[in-house]
This record gives sequence, C-alpha cells and structure tokens, in this order.
Amino acid sequence: MDSDPTSEHRTRRGRRTRRGRRAQHVAAALCLFSALGCEAYTLSVENRQPLEPLPIYATWWAETEACSGRSGDLGRIEWFTATTIRADDVVASGLWSPPHRIVVIRGFEESELVVRHEMLHDLLEGDAEHARPEWDVCMLIPR
Ligand SMILES: [Zn+2]
Repeated sequence: MDSDPTSEHRTRRGRRTRRGRRAQHVAAALCLFSALGCEAYTLSVENRQPLEPLPIYATWWAETEACSGRSGDLGRIEWFTATTIRADDVVASGLWSPPHRIVVIRGFEESELVVRHEMLHDLLEGDAEHARPEWDVCMLIPR
C-alpha cells in the first residue's frame, strides 16, 4: 500500500470524528463532493469508462484557475464516467482522486457545477473537507 498514492493522502486526511459529519452533510447535499477515496469509505464506482474531455472543459478550467488563483495542467487529468459513485450509502455525482483523476456520473458530463467542482479539487490537490476559501470564491461549494 505504500506505493499507493491514495494511502498517504488517506493517512494525512483521515480524521474519524469529522468523517461521519461530513458524510451526513454530503448526503443532504446529495451530490457534490469528492475525494472520498481519501477516507476510509468503501468506495464503489460502477461501470467506469474513459471520457474524452469536452471542448468546454478548457473554458471551465480557465475560469476555475482564475477564481482560485491557482494554475494546473488540464491535460494531466484522466477523465471517466460511471453509472454510480457511492461511498458507503452516500451517492455522489462526481469524484476526484489523486493524482489527477475525475469521475462524473454519466449525464453530468455537461454539468458545469459538477465538472468545475472536481476541477477545483484538482487545483487544490484535494481538500476533501472543502475547507479552503477558494470554494466560496469560485462558488463551487457543495450545498
Ligand atoms: Zn468536493
């Protein structure tokens, strides 16, 4: 597991006391969250398929870079769709996992909110807790 890039992330991020609360929050929001792979959830991604990024993603990426004040390389992101993203009993519309992997539920490929939310995770290199101010600045905080 030491060679697994997610294991270090999990150790660094894993805080049991906050995890349950966040899961509830996410369940209420019913969609926008990601980086669950950083935690000790049983993560289930069903029917994952590669996704050719849409041309609009370049625009969304530039906008997300601008509002966050961060820069990154859109080209290094691996894109996928899936029919289900679930962590325990919590479902999600998108998932970011290190190093640069984004999964969106099929049908959400053209959802600016879902895609840009996961893009911001990439630019922030995680932040599963959505604690950084960029979420508010970019108006991509889960609700
Ligand atoms: Zn998120």
